[in-house]
Amino acid sequence: MIDIQKVSKKYPGGIAVEDVSFQVATGEKLVLLGTSGSGKTTMLKMINRLIEPSSGKIFINQENILDQKPETLRKKIGYVIQDSGLFPHYTVAQNVAIVPNLLNWNREEIIQTTKRLLDLLSLPYTEYAHRYPHELSGGQKQRVGIARALAVDPPLMLLDEPFGALDPITRSQIQKEFKTIESLKNKTMVMVTHDVFEAIALGNKICLLDQGKVQQIGNPRELIFNPKNNFVESFFQAHRFQLELKVTQLKDILPQLNALEISPDHLHQFEIETDLLEVLESKNGEPADRSFIQINDHKQQKILITHHQEILEAFYKVR
Ligand code: ADP
Ligand code: MG
Repeated sequence: MIDIQKVSKKYPGGIAVEDVSFQVATGEKLVLLGTSGSGKTTMLKMINRLIEPSSGKIFINQENILDQKPETLRKKIGYVIQDSGLFPHYTVAQNVAIVPNLLNWNREEIIQTTKRLLDLLSLPYTEYAHRYPHELSGGQKQRVGIARALAVDPPLMLLDEPFGALDPITRSQIQKEFKTIESLKNKTMVMVTHDVFEAIALGNKICLLDQGKVQQIGNPRELIFNPKNNFVESFFQAHRFQLELKVTQLKDILPQLNALEISPDHLHQFEIETDLLEVLESKNGEPADRSFIQINDHKQQKILITHHQEILEAFYKVR
């Protein structure tokens, strides 16, 4: 869907993005990860032509975006930024309806869409539609920003630190919702973050940037278990153990697990695609060899029963 070919952006003071290439397939979620100043926002904004590249090519569905009118291009791309970027003098409903209005949708269609999207993002229409941004919490503003980006159901979404301004609890809650919203699952996304946990939670592909250059592109497991260079390795070093648990799922350690022949009353139940960090965090102070876990398949059928200690030992074997 997106093909970035040797894109650079030079400013008189220096190079913001240098020779960056990557592809994003339809439905894929690519995260541009890096510290502040690494070129993430510049790269993202070149995809909807808020910034023009100094060199290189960008294709969306095989079409060179430089051959299209920026306004036409942007109507097909949802864009979500930190602090939501809502217009303060517009109500929630008016903010969501900005692009539909530009596209001259009829009134009824606009109201229906706005209703559907606000409900979808847990902002019931009757309660929120007529509020102004200053009457919302940070998390609610961010949800409106997402609703607005979804209004015309664009196949592609660009998100720049969309949850960056939120407190950790609101943030992990909205990240969870974000992953479960059906209409977002099949969208192609390019998302910017400096937060390694957010990158892993939301991306199925990560492009790690440093000083405008790509350091490594791959899925989260590849970057964490097979870093290509010292920069990539050190980038994840501070949280390595947690991250390794986060990118390992129960199904990855299943062959190493010993099943217990008992059926205790109290069990934590998890599907085989749950990450080990979540499983181990469920221990909650119980002794690791007496805190039981039932692993289920997708149909909630039992695969086996084990305990936390086994999970940790199996992890060390596959690691
Ligand atoms: P990030 O989003 O990763 O924090 P940016 O893409 O915003 O980084 O910026 C990358 C680099 O380009 C930074 O060093 C920044 O100072 C520089 N930069 C960004 N915009 C401009 C500009 N308009 N003029 C000059 N330098 C810029
Ligand atoms: Mg930025």
